[in-house]
Amino acid sequence: MFTFNPAFEAPTGSPIRELFKYLAQPGMISFAGGYPASDLFDREGLDAAAARASQQSTLCLQYGPTDGLAVLKEQLAQLMTRRGTPCAPQALLVTTGSQQGFDLLLRVMVAPGDVVLVEQPAYPATLQALKLQQADVVTVPVDQNGLDVAALAALLEAGLVRPPKLLYTVPTFANPTGATLSLERRMALLKLAARHHFLIVEDDPYGDLRFSGTALPSLLALSDQVPGSRDWVVHFSSLSKIVAPGLRVGWMVAHAEILRRCVVAKQTVDLCSSPWTQAIAAEYLASGALERHLPRIVDAYAVKCRTLCDALDEHLGDAIAFHRPAGGMFVWAQLTGGENASDTLRACIERNVMFVPGVAFYKDNIDLAALRLSFAAPGVAEIETGVQRMKQALALV
Ligand code: PMP
Repeated sequence: MFTFNPAFEAPTGSPIRELFKYLAQPGMISFAGGYPASDLFDREGLDAAAARASQQSTLCLQYGPTDGLAVLKEQLAQLMTRRGTPCAPQALLVTTGSQQGFDLLLRVMVAPGDVVLVEQPAYPATLQALKLQQADVVTVPVDQNGLDVAALAALLEAGLVRPPKLLYTVPTFANPTGATLSLERRMALLKLAARHHFLIVEDDPYGDLRFSGTALPSLLALSDQVPGSRDWVVHFSSLSKIVAPGLRVGWMVAHAEILRRCVVAKQTVDLCSSPWTQAIAAEYLASGALERHLPRIVDAYAVKCRTLCDALDEHLGDAIAFHRPAGGMFVWAQLTGGENASDTLRACIERNVMFVPGVAFYKDNIDLAALRLSFAAPGVAEIETGVQRMKQALALV
């Protein structure tokens, strides 16, 4: 009856959100969503920040500037500086979650048919956004050290792809692989971007959730050391995983010419991100609450990650292969007995445990044996029980 925009003619929704209906199943243990643990939200700190924010009614009840409240931009610039990636508040655009930032960037940069490089396996919403934008998506493989930059170089230098507009990567504690891009690869990637003039989209919602090892500088920070690369990095981050996704506070740092256009795009999307939650976030950050609370989250996730990995080793043994991540929220694994992870998921759902089958993270060359397990939301005892149920589902008992 209707004539839709061709990109929305037969849209497929998020494969992860499709699984949400099973969450209502009584007793379900979910390793599926990328949800932070609700019991680790800093309720006290956020309530206090909200009380202070509400005293500034003109700031938080009125429309705000499209690029974000100045008080929040100042706090986010300071947060970036503490992370070792100094940036000026003017170089930063506040977005409604970092998810919106990527959408704005695509509107500004990518015309239908433009080549966009994406690490694979990839965050599904990125694949979805690129599909709706009708980009020509070319995938680049990853391994346990993140994006295979040598494979990317070979692709570019052999002229196997048309010049790409941008490359999307989650270099630190990736979703879904948990992998972190090595320093050597970071430098090599920046050199490639400077030589081939494509934007590196550095998506960094998980970098602060490190359990072990030392932090690596972001691509944006390192770009100062690689001549000609600084302008080619767009950096996204978010308070979703370290404070609360309900705030919907994310931000992007990019060249002024890009940012200016993203602001125009954002004007037509939502005029501005909620000044109410921006003011709460600004108060929260200014009070030092993040620095006080974050170690609790990191410590708890470290324990949960260890519990999951130990339980997989103990209960599933050789039936599953995975690398222990040094941070983030995800364990990426492969079933080694020739099972299709989607079939295993069905058997698991019957036993009240679920995960995301790897197929959700691929555009092509799907690894049917792969799956993503998130350890952030379930409790320690649930993690143990969940893995035992997976063992039953895999008929290993
Ligand atoms: N990027 C990645 C890699 C993510 O995993 C997520 C959330 N799952 C996002 C972006 C979106 O986060 P936000 O809540 O800031 O929109």
